[in-house]
Amino acid sequence: MKPVGPIPSGYETLDGELTIGGRTASALVEEAGGTPLFVYSGALLSRRVADLRAALPGRIGINYAVKANPMPAVVTHMAPLVDGFDIASSGELAILEKVGIDPARISFAGPGKREDELEAAIAAGVTLNCESAGEAARSLAIGERIGKRPRIAIRVNPSFELRGSGMKMGGGAKQFGVDADKVPALAREVIGQGAEWRGLHIFTGSQALSAEAIVETQGNVLNLAAHLTDEIGHGLPKLNMGGGFGIPYFPGDEPLDLAEVGRALGERVADLPKALAGTELCLELGRYLAGEAGVYLCRVVDRKQSHGTTYLVTDGGLHHQLAASGNFGTVVRRNYPSAIATRYDEEPAEEVNIVGCLCTPLDRLADQAMLPRADVGDIVAVFCAGAYGATASPSAFLGHGLAREILV
Ligand SMILES: *Cc1c(COP(=O)(O)O)cnc(C)c1O
Repeated sequence: MKPVGPIPSGYETLDGELTIGGRTASALVEEAGGTPLFVYSGALLSRRVADLRAALPGRIGINYAVKANPMPAVVTHMAPLVDGFDIASSGELAILEKVGIDPARISFAGPGKREDELEAAIAAGVTLNCESAGEAARSLAIGERIGKRPRIAIRVNPSFELRGSGMKMGGGAKQFGVDADKVPALAREVIGQGAEWRGLHIFTGSQALSAEAIVETQGNVLNLAAHLTDEIGHGLPKLNMGGGFGIPYFPGDEPLDLAEVGRALGERVADLPKALAGTELCLELGRYLAGEAGVYLCRVVDRKQSHGTTYLVTDGGLHHQLAASGNFGTVVRRNYPSAIATRYDEEPAEEVNIVGCLCTPLDRLADQAMLPRADVGDIVAVFCAGAYGATASPSAFLGHGLAREILV
């Protein structure tokens, strides 16, 4: 037996079934037209933002990192809740423009921005978080050519990283950002060339569950930003402090102590370095906002035994939920929180392997999990599917097609 990860709070039972937004899994599947299906809960998205607002100092803005879940309905739901949106491609920009997000609320980070992406962003009035001196120069040239003053921030590659984070995005040689010691000269250059100076972006890592590590990093980020601002010699309009807030995916993971992060940040903000006195501050969060608000539902299409092991074979798999299969940024495969949605109130009765429908042994959704006895037709739920699910999985692999998605 292997444990499954902790099921996030906010999910209830009705008529023996898992409910999302007050409706049963089978009713949601029927409404959506079938499985596999991602269901996102608007109430849980809203609740998470409200929890953050309650815990964080009022001065700290919250940006949504769109790559976590770019579904237009989700972006639209987030629009009145968050202060800004961080995008990583012109494709994400197109989604935001289509749902009517004001480009003044958008910043664009990410390495390898193409000329056409830079031009689209500059033309729209999006802030570019420049990842290199070359990108800054290209942005200035494009601005000149199209007669539009580019709004430029610089992404800093700091010398420190976010301790304990699942994905490190700062410290040492990186494809992200400008090495901290090169930032002041580049910022002065960009300002001198007539760009609208938008400030600094310092993102150091992802999926951290330790409040202590996040608090330490936020202190480092504020100190570095103050130091760089002094060196640049211009006021800092805005500081994107990064994020990195993690969610519990696996057995034994403890939720981030948000109250502690908020308390420590409150102390820092009350005693900011002089250089940051007038600076707008924000965090950028993806999975922390959306991850626990989503559930992936797939149907059992076969039940079989092999050498004494029971397999529930579903119509879902790693082509929609790569992370749950253990093939997206993890070294040792562990079980995501999962359940039999149509027997949500039943006691665990047998040990099963839940697999997907792809012809590869990598396609596993749960290994040796103790679950209620399920059969063909039952619906499996994989939780923590609201971020890096539908769009972070190889959906073209084997040609099964995309999963359905609904926001309830
Ligand atoms: C991916 C990314 C995020 C979001 O990370 P989460 O772990 O989902 O919060 C935020 N900022 C940048 C720059 C990123 O690349």
